[in-house]
Amino acid sequence: MPRPNRFRDMIRIGPVQVGSYYDGRGRDRHTAACTAPKCGFSADYRNRAAAELAARTHQCTA
Ligand SMILES: [Zn+2]
Repeated sequence: MPRPNRFRDMIRIGPVQVGSYYDGRGRDRHTAACTAPKCGFSADYRNRAAAELAARTHQCTA
């Protein structure tokens, strides 16, 4: 994944991992990414709660 390797506070909710990182331009970003190989879901959020909510409600297609 073309992402900066500075994730912190990684957690896993079901198949989805949530991590936060600093984008280098003064903002915290939060990513939710499904680890199921055939799913491919990943998204960035402005706040941690949104990322965790997305992880919790993710309907995995894999
Ligand atoms: Zn999935």
